[in-house]
Amino acid sequence: MDLTSFFETAVLALNRNKSGELGDRTRYIGSSDVSGCARKVYLSRKNPSTPNFSTLLKFNRGHVAETLIENIFIAGGVKHLFATQVELRHPVYPLKAHVDFLFHADLDGTPGFHVIEVKSVSGIPEEPYPSWEDQLSFQLGLLHIKYPDKKISGSILAIDLNAGQVHQFNGYEHDEATFNYLYCRALHLLDCLEEKDVARPSVSHLCTYCSYRSDCPVMTLPEVDLPPEIEALAVKYAALNGSKNHAEKELKSIRQELVDFTGPVFKGRSDSVDLVVSYVAPSMVIDGTLLKKEYPDIYPAILKERAGYTKLECKPVKTAKA
Ligand code: SF4
Repeated sequence: MDLTSFFETAVLALNRNKSGELGDRTRYIGSSDVSGCARKVYLSRKNPSTPNFSTLLKFNRGHVAETLIENIFIAGGVKHLFATQVELRHPVYPLKAHVDFLFHADLDGTPGFHVIEVKSVSGIPEEPYPSWEDQLSFQLGLLHIKYPDKKISGSILAIDLNAGQVHQFNGYEHDEATFNYLYCRALHLLDCLEEKDVARPSVSHLCTYCSYRSDCPVMTLPEVDLPPEIEALAVKYAALNGSKNHAEKELKSIRQELVDFTGPVFKGRSDSVDLVVSYVAPSMVIDGTLLKKEYPDIYPAILKERAGYTKLECKPVKTAKA
């Protein structure tokens, strides 16, 4: 049974079914469009492309996470308090949102709407991404238009299925100024689609999954302005890498002190640690330089290609001293 090629077709069909639940995306602007990049929204309508298999699978992680959370809510006995995939529409313009979970009361039964936007992640970020917050704010704004007198709140539920972690970014409320800004962005996107304005790119962590990245002007060298969430990840990576280098130096020096004490063969134990030192006998390896020098005809015949890889470098920027 060849599941690989079967999956490649079936995941496409699954994606079509899931997209179908959201209606014809070319006919309205959704909350994820408003919070994202105008160029991507424009091109996805004018020049639709199907993401590759890997990206489609990653998209479906979101649906898996939503189903899991729904099952958890049901198991917890609050099935009567929420609805899923609730569509909200702007009364005038073709602007919509699909709310993952809309509670009409708190878990203790206190009335009031609560919107939950679910995000499936690999590693829960310390702060919610700005695009997540924009998406939620747009949903809260559309809900407020529909129910202007109701109490409305919202949260973002980030879930990392691999790590088995979940985190709620809570405390969001409808904010008129934020919604107005997003509403203007949505109108701008409509203008772009009608060729009345230019859809400019804006970099975010979502560029990772963008099908229009290869010729995107802001993603080309020599230099890309980092969006804040990617900058935060890169700074963290550089800091961890720095402590790894420091740890490696420290390990080397401690190792020397330990071996000075133990000698080449040793077995010791305390209440907290086992210390074992053993001797690894010498072995033979091929000296490539010598082989190339002594047997230049043979050398090319034994070469094999080494796969290329992505090299990542993150270093703190050195600022000039005043
Ligand atoms: S790569 Fe990023 S900035 Fe460029 S179009 Fe895609 S989402 Fe927009």
